[in-house]
Amino acid sequence: MPICIECRYPVKTLYTEYSKADDQSLGKGVRLTQCPRCKRFADKYVEHDFVVLFIDLVLIKPQVYRHLLFNRLGRDDDRFDRSILRLGVLLLLFDVYLTWARIEKLTLPPTSPYLPASSSLSLLSSTLTSSSSSSSSHTNTLPPHEAHTNAALLQAQPLILQYFFFLLLVCSSTLAFHLPIRLLCSVSPAKLPAPLARVYRSVIPTYPYPTPLSTALLVSSCTKLFPILLIIWDYDLPSSATAVSWAVIVNNVAALEILMDCGYARAGVLVGVGAGLRSLVANAVLTGVGLGTGWGDGSNGLGDVDGAVRWLGSVMGKG
Ligand SMILES: [Zn+2]
Repeated sequence: MPICIECRYPVKTLYTEYSKADDQSLGKGVRLTQCPRCKRFADKYVEHDFVVLFIDLVLIKPQVYRHLLFNRLGRDDDRFDRSILRLGVLLLLFDVYLTWARIEKLTLPPTSPYLPASSSLSLLSSTLTSSSSSSSSHTNTLPPHEAHTNAALLQAQPLILQYFFFLLLVCSSTLAFHLPIRLLCSVSPAKLPAPLARVYRSVIPTYPYPTPLSTALLVSSCTKLFPILLIIWDYDLPSSATAVSWAVIVNNVAALEILMDCGYARAGVLVGVGAGLRSLVANAVLTGVGLGTGWGDGSNGLGDVDGAVRWLGSVMGKG
């Protein structure tokens, strides 16, 4: 049953169609339902197009989330709406591009065999001594700015292998984000021992429908598509990827709160757990293949808030 997007009151229909009997050329008219409780239109977004929806989604308006999650994409049979599956695939492919561009620029771990160990030493030795012949044994074909980054390791592999690696990385991190949130919400505190149940209830909300949870997380990740607009500007991709990641996390928290009506703190705990496990899995995969993760060297990781703020400032300055 649809709900009023202003006050969550259930309504029978969102609009009624009527035909203009006198003039067939005008077609059918639509009258929006007025909510019996708050007296406002039950769902004004049935009349709005996708652009308005997307802008209000980025602005985290609760009404647009209620419209999408309850009135448009909500189904009774606990299956995904077809448009959500399409959005999921689009987000996944876009994430591959963003992740690839970000990871490529990170520094290689100090133990990596692809790290040109001679480059810094040979520079030193060639300036100190005249015998520079020792450095000739190391032939480094990459330009100096790429020599220390993950790009050195990645570009040694075929392109198709690089693509499938990032596809696998993004798929596994997405699963590591969705599954714990679905699992935690499906646990019924009634089955836990009494003291534990009280703590669990105060930290984790209960919501036994996993599909709407994933739908909420996917819809709220729409901000990930935002960098499409950034093609217009020249921009620093790692910093913008960081800014977008944080914006997506804020959107995720808002979407879960609006879906479950559970308060921002509990929604924040859920997204925190999901995001934490996601970054653990991603870092494990990256470390496993010998790529740098960006953590600990103070550059370009998710923790690069300074870079993101600088980048946002520069974009605002141009706009
Ligand atoms: Zn209402």
